[in-house]
Amino acid sequence: MKKHSLVIIGSGPAGYTAAIYAARANLKPLLYEGFLSGVPGGQLMTTTDVENYPGFPEGIQGPLLMQAFRQQAERFKTEFLTEDVQSVDLSSRPFVITSSSGSVFADALIIATGANAKRLDVPGARDGELWQKGVSACAICDGAAPLFRGKELYVFGGGDTAVEEAVFLTKFASKVFLVHRRDALRASKIMSDRALHHPKIEIIWNHVLSRVNGSSQVESVVLEHAQTKQLSERPAAGVFFAIGHEPNTAFLGAQLKKHESGYLYVEPGSTRTSIEGVFAAGDVQDHVYRQAVSAAGSGCMAALDAERWLSLSGLI
Ligand SMILES: Cc1cc2nc3c(=O)[nH]c(=O)nc-3n(C[C@H](O)[C@H](O)[C@H](O)COP(=O)(O)OP(=O)(O)OC[C@H]3O[C@@H](n4cnc5c(N)ncnc54)[C@H](O)[C@@H]3O)c2cc1C
Repeated sequence: MKKHSLVIIGSGPAGYTAAIYAARANLKPLLYEGFLSGVPGGQLMTTTDVENYPGFPEGIQGPLLMQAFRQQAERFKTEFLTEDVQSVDLSSRPFVITSSSGSVFADALIIATGANAKRLDVPGARDGELWQKGVSACAICDGAAPLFRGKELYVFGGGDTAVEEAVFLTKFASKVFLVHRRDALRASKIMSDRALHHPKIEIIWNHVLSRVNGSSQVESVVLEHAQTKQLSERPAAGVFFAIGHEPNTAFLGAQLKKHESGYLYVEPGSTRTSIEGVFAAGDVQDHVYRQAVSAAGSGCMAALDAERWLSLSGLI
């Protein structure tokens, strides 16, 4: 079985950035890009304009940005495998990483497998319908787009993130409706108060999304009363899901410490996980920022942490 100093799992901004740094440090990393777990290149492969990644004053298409990340990692001789990691064994050293083509040994491991935003599966909001044509799962990413300016927008959810997204959207919207299926928010008291007292936010209690209508972009939403099941159609230009994220950690089992929400635990201010020699970067360990630039930044940190750990352990 082949042995690598460093294996990186995940091909979004975090994984590719870790590869750029590790490859330049001559660690010859092997990077699993994923296959069925998501598109190689990560979440930005599924979007169009990225307007907040520094260095692109006119914005850049998500897939083009990720292609450039990959080329940069390739230039310094990263080895790529377009496969999903099925399991890892962190109980002995070197670690064993297994994918469909077999297993390899790794002295150090960086996990950068991202997190998927949960979406409501309703007619009109799916891929190929109005998803990314006014339906989004990230207000910070998409909220400033011209199609939302001065319009009525709908946020679905009842936790802190939902309130944060609703408040953020008030900068652009004429009005933000926060729709919650219960009669009280799950958000903390301080966040709930912000929503309840914000002049541009109206909370619609006890309702769920039934469908999204529009020809080429969102034009209206149909809400259903949670108890009476009565339907009501309302004009809307945007639908934002804020119902949580699912970190991609199934292949790890229970080997690493996680937060209650499923995100990998890292020591504050570092990318070190609960097992020495295993590092985590990007959205899989970040329930707060979840942006491409913060993922890339933590990918850099993970590569530097891994390189120092390998060196201090006498493994390079
Ligand atoms: C539609 C959309 C638009 C967005 N727009 C913006 C924006 O404009 N600006 C911005 O800053 N952020 C934006 N974001 C958020 C941004 O995309 C994420 O914060 C960022 O991609 C996280 O990077 P990451 O490297 O942690 O993970 P990801 O990009 O999620 O990449 C993880 C990769 O790991 C792979 N993987 C998962 N499991 C395995 C496995 N078992 N084996 C091998 N590989 C695996 C996946 O296939 C995937 O390629 C957007 C997100 C979405 C969904």
